[in-house]
Amino acid sequence: QIFIPLNFLGFVYREIRGSLANIDNLFALLDKVPKVLDLQDAPALQLTSGHIRFEDVSFHYHSDRPILQNVSFDIQPGHKVAVVGPSGAGKSTLVKLLFRFYDPNEGRITIDGQDIRQVGQSSLRANMAIVPQDTVLFNDTILENIRYGRPDATDNEVQRVIELAHLSDFISQLPSKERTQVGERGLKLSGGEKQRVAIARALLKNPRILVFDEATSSLDSHSEQLILQAMQSLEKGHTRMVIAHRLSTIVDADNIIVMQQGQIAEQGTHQELLKHDGVYAHLWRSQQKQHPQDNP
Ligand code: ADP
Ligand code: MG
Repeated sequence: QIFIPLNFLGFVYREIRGSLANIDNLFALLDKVPKVLDLQDAPALQLTSGHIRFEDVSFHYHSDRPILQNVSFDIQPGHKVAVVGPSGAGKSTLVKLLFRFYDPNEGRITIDGQDIRQVGQSSLRANMAIVPQDTVLFNDTILENIRYGRPDATDNEVQRVIELAHLSDFISQLPSKERTQVGERGLKLSGGEKQRVAIARALLKNPRILVFDEATSSLDSHSEQLILQAMQSLEKGHTRMVIAHRLSTIVDADNIIVMQQGQIAEQGTHQELLKHDGVYAHLWRSQQKQHPQDNP
């Protein structure tokens, strides 16, 4: 009879670990605890196709300094939309608003027609994964760190994402392989290795909406290309928002949004933006001069 409560505890424990994966993302994104609250009896997000809309969104962290001003864009279901622009332009802030760590001061964000302020935050985040710029690892084995993406994943599923994220060679060289302890009190991973763990986590979670915030910025160009190729097959049908530093990684995006000082300076496909010969075209040419080998 004692098995019943123990089983139940096991279930609760897994639930908590499941939500830890989100808390992890949260702390990686935030410098302070969020203030947003769910409405009473907020319904769960009903994800149908994964259509994201920013409608006239304005936002500030402190009222004396506007960060985003009247930002409107659409991410069609299954599309890959890139956000580029100089550091400080407000790109990561867009992600924080999408995950509802903050609410817009004006305008709204909808997913499949539902204002994200009207739905439960846990259901919102259950349908999205983010690969942040700075990944937090827990004091646990590398295996468990990857499994946080989806605690009930099978070993085969975990193995598959380890390969997709090109972590196999790295893991095979560790003293206790995937049972090696990592994190503050274990093995310290490099920025690039942590990003691969974050990519593996997100791939394991496999939600309909994927967000990459300069997710491959710590990788060298070669590793970045390998991972991008590996992910392409998996990304079909996912709505993706990709914040990119290296423009060569987003030339295939369905739409590219160029942010400047909290506003959309221009948007279009790579070809359209080159033809437009504005901010993007300028940025593209300057990156081509620095990294001519990146030319696809
Ligand atoms: P990007 O990702 O394009 O580099 P961010 O969205 O991170 O830009 O930041 C946009 C602006 O908002 C920056 O000037 C940044 O300093 C400011 N900012 C970011 N986070 C906070 C915060 N938690 N509190 C106050 N200001 C912030
Ligand atoms: Mg950023």
